[in-house]
This record gives sequence, structure tokens and C-alpha cells, in this order.
Amino acid sequence: MKIFVINAGSSSLKYQLIDMETEKVMAKGLCERIGIEGSKLTHKNPAKDLEVKIEKPMENHTDAIKMVLDALTDGKHGVISSLSEISAVGHRVVHGGETFSKSTLITEEVKKAIEDCSEFAPLHNPANLIGINAIEQAMGKDIPQVAVFDTAFHQTMPKEAFMYGLPYEYYEKDKIRRYGFHGTSHRFVSAEAAKVLGKKVTELNIITVHLGNGSSVAAVKGGKCIDTSMGFTPLAGMLMGTRCGCIDPAIIPVLMNKYNLSADDINNIMNKKSGVAGISGVSSDFRDLDKAAAEGNERARLALDMFMYQTKAYVASYAAALGGVDAIVFTAGVGENSPEVREGVVKGMEFMGIKMDTEKNKVRGTVDVTAADSKTKILVIPTNEELMIAKDTAELVK
Ligand code: ADP
Repeated sequence: MKIFVINAGSSSLKYQLIDMETEKVMAKGLCERIGIEGSKLTHKNPAKDLEVKIEKPMENHTDAIKMVLDALTDGKHGVISSLSEISAVGHRVVHGGETFSKSTLITEEVKKAIEDCSEFAPLHNPANLIGINAIEQAMGKDIPQVAVFDTAFHQTMPKEAFMYGLPYEYYEKDKIRRYGFHGTSHRFVSAEAAKVLGKKVTELNIITVHLGNGSSVAAVKGGKCIDTSMGFTPLAGMLMGTRCGCIDPAIIPVLMNKYNLSADDINNIMNKKSGVAGISGVSSDFRDLDKAAAEGNERARLALDMFMYQTKAYVASYAAALGGVDAIVFTAGVGENSPEVREGVVKGMEFMGIKMDTEKNKVRGTVDVTAADSKTKILVIPTNEELMIAKDTAELVK
């Protein structure tokens, strides 16, 4: 069975074609600048070690999807001879609100519900819907499509974890609450961790630490999420690449009044100008920060220290929420690639039985970096949201 996985953004679209028998990626790529001058498709065929770049105007997502489907079936760089080889399409959908607690076969009703959730993710959900409709136009209505939600895994959080201390009516009327994001990644790596440990996920207390451009931590008890650091939006939690994370909410009106900022202005500052980029003034990329800090840049050092400190605070509080922790799992761009950040996060937790082997921590890939005398396992597991989406899709169309 071959599953086509799509992650549609407002002006971009990432895709993978996955062969479910081998779980291998047959083709993958990215459409950039959709609807903007200079649209470009980068298509990769890993088996042939080929990469092609096609620069052609893409007015909308339907154009983009048509170009991708042409690339998949192209005589030279394609990987299938006909679109009928694709059994189903899986979509990453950012927000499922309280409606979706698991992945779902897409129907007209489901599309309407995704649209209803757009108020929570105004940049993402509409783009995801456009992707779904574009597939319908290009491949017909009969191709099964599945929506896999970033928020779904976190729907098991108990009320005391997902409620905010605002008047209750805002939850009832406006559904203001913690939703959490990166759920597909947290679910994938917690399941992988159980495999690595040779146990059932239902027997384990796991803290998953997804550190990338956007970062979040989740407490996973017996395979179910009981708390996570992102909130009503992906702005909450620790500071991130360019996002401020949790701050005293009273700072917002103070800055708005003092600098005559609109809601959009302050939102932009908190999402795009803050985080480790805002603190360091160097970059949102952790490689640049590592380099600058090593060269003596104090603000880059501070940004890294804040990032590790805030992440540590989530890990420690979730250890308490779980009542003990069997494994801590690091994943995503920074979690998989930065030994320094991993070490910084767990340093000082030895009193809780959490101890890293700093030598083992220097390597990459799926690794166990636990010290021999640690009670808690510390693992590094590469995330694979696309494979998780493909697996859910295959499962639902079987
Ligand atoms: P996204 O949230 O966009 O999916 P990723 O999970 O791909 O992000 O993570 C991107 C981040 O990973 C970048 O900020 C980059 O700095 C970081 N990263 C990648 N490789 C390394 C590395 N070798 N050392 C430190 N950070 C790295």
C-alpha cells in the first residue's frame, strides 16, 4: 500500500509518498511560494538519489498538487507509473479543537468541522483544508483522505491540566483552553520509546521533549497525554526559536499601551521577534547560537541557558504530574542533534534518579544515553510525523 502524506501551509506544501510494506519514503518534496512570485517545487527520489527543482508559477494549492502528482508519475524522476497506485492520502491538520481526539476519515462533515476549528488556527487550518480540496480536484472524490490532527493526542488531558484560570464562561462559550500541539510527534516517539525499552506503552510513564523551531514537552501516562506545554496556541511553553513562550500575561497590555501596539503587532512580536532569536539578537537557529556562544557572545549563551532552564522546569513538573518517570525522550531538530541542550536539560536532576551518560550523549540517531546508575531512561529518538500520519491513514482505510 502506498500512502501520500501532505502537510499544507499557507504558502508551502510538504509531501511524502510512503510505501507501507517497507515504511520507506519513495519520494518527498516541498512546494514553496505558492501564490507568490517565484514558486518552486523541489522533488526528491531517494532510491535514484535524485533531486529536481522545478520553477513554475503555482497560483494556488491545486496548481501545486497537480505539479507534485506530475512529478510522482514523471518518467524520469517519478516513482509510480499511475496515480491509481496511491491507496489513500493523509493530511496533517493543525487544529482539531475538542471535536477530534483521533485521526479521522475525511467526509464533508469532517471538512466542515475542520473549518469550524479555523478560528483556533487561522493560518493553518484553512491551508490544510485547501490541501484536502486540491487532492479531491486532482484525484477525484473517491480517493480516501484522512486528517491527522496535531491536537488530537492531547485530548486525553484531564480538566485540571487543560483549563486556564479565566472566567469559566470563556471555556464554555469560546472554548478557550489548553489544546497542545506536536501531538503526532509526541505520540510517535512515546510509542517508539516503548519499543526500544521492550515494554508496552500502557505500562510506562514517559516525558517526550520535542525541541525544534517550535518546542513542546508532554507527559504521557500509559500511552495517554496528561499534560503538555503548548496551550491554546503553539505560542505557550518554553521560549522557542522566535516565540516567547509563557510570559506574565500582564506584560502584554503594558507593552501595547506604552508603544501603541495593536493586537496584531504584539502577536507578531511574541511569535516572530522573541524567543532565543529575540534574546540573543543572533539567530533562531541553535547551530548559530552554539557557535556564537562558543565565541563568547553572552546573549547567545543566555538564550541557550534560558531554553534549557525552561525545558528542565517542564520536565521536572511533569515527573511530579506522572508520579515518577520511566523514560525521558528527546526528539526533533534540536532534541536529536544538540548533545549540549540535552545535557543541559537533565543536568541537576540526579537527585530524582535522572542521570545521563554524557559520553553516550555525544552520538546521533536512536540512542540510549542513560547512565548505568540512572533510574529513569534517557533516550534520543528521531521523530517521524509523516510516517505516523501514513500509518494512521493506512489503518483507517484498511
Ligand atoms: P520545525 O519545528 O521547523 O519542524 P525542526 O524540528 O526541524 O523544526 O528543528 C529545527 C531546529 O533544529 C533548528 O532551529 C536548528 O537549529 C536545529 N538543529 C538542527 N541541527 C542542529 C544541530 N546539529 N545542533 C543544534 N541544533 C540543530
